[in-house]
Amino acid sequence: MKQFKSGRLPSAVAIFTCVLCGFAGAARAEHAPAVGITRIAQWKDDKKAAFTMEFDDGIANHLSIVIPELQKRKMVGTFYLNPAKAEQKILLDQWKKAPDTGAAVLGAHTMTHGGFKDLAGAEEEIGRSQEIVLDMVPGKRLRLLGFATPGVPPGRWPITGAEKAQILAEHHLIDRGDFAGHGAMFHERTADEMVGLAESALDKGGVEYLVFHSVGPGTIPTPVPLFLEFLDKLEARHDRLWITDQISAHKYEAERAGGTVRVVEAGSRKIRLTLTSQADPQLYDAPLTLVTQVPAAWAQCQVMQDARKVTVMPVNGTVQFEAMPNAGGITLEP
Ligand SMILES: [Zn+2]
Repeated sequence: MKQFKSGRLPSAVAIFTCVLCGFAGAARAEHAPAVGITRIAQWKDDKKAAFTMEFDDGIANHLSIVIPELQKRKMVGTFYLNPAKAEQKILLDQWKKAPDTGAAVLGAHTMTHGGFKDLAGAEEEIGRSQEIVLDMVPGKRLRLLGFATPGVPPGRWPITGAEKAQILAEHHLIDRGDFAGHGAMFHERTADEMVGLAESALDKGGVEYLVFHSVGPGTIPTPVPLFLEFLDKLEARHDRLWITDQISAHKYEAERAGGTVRVVEAGSRKIRLTLTSQADPQLYDAPLTLVTQVPAAWAQCQVMQDARKVTVMPVNGTVQFEAMPNAGGITLEP
């Protein structure tokens, strides 16, 4: 049984090849990589980096402008709501339907955006927003939601970072991170500066995000033509960039970080793998993308895991497919 830890692991691949060749170093180039060698792709579909567009404050033009434009491009955004804020409350029925477009994932941004005066208030303001947003989108009761910290009036956030982290953990909320350095029209003011965040993710093979407020007139407004220019620049990077929502990127990153692929069998007619991850499977329930070296003779490949069966075509001797960590064994056959 050969074990490859997560990531690109060129060294593990190289060592394996050398062992097969019986030579070190120079022998590698003369031999095809060993059948069965599998890596967990850095990001879904073996994209080089991930990028998320995030929209705060449940603004009406997110519904009327942003979501239709994302939908046209088959992109998705994450939308952080304040369910008790008057101007958002009247839109909650529309927000409930937004995920059906495929272009919107909802997150929590506290109840009122007004902060609180003590720890009990924090629990209500943060925790209740999670419950309401969770109820707005059908699905498992136990699941992760994105959380964005609102900018509140002075003195209206009297809790420590540890207290906030505890409330978020109790409610399975995942903090999207700081606004600083990620704010459209606040920090990034041109389409090139905005897409520069995506370029920086591509440089690092990591994940980046950009936070918008109003698109069109309103709070920290991004003019619509500038927003569309940015979307076009983002779309031009689509082949290398996974444009996704905050929780999908978070789940993938956590599962990959704790993930291990084992090659159980690697023959000319069958390859068997197992995929495990240390991430809690109740909350981290998204598939990972695997890339496996198959025999050169395989014209196509059937991948089976539990009841799922897909046919994939080898490209340059490798096949790419999705697999669930901590589920059944994975079998590949020609
Ligand atoms: Zn806000």
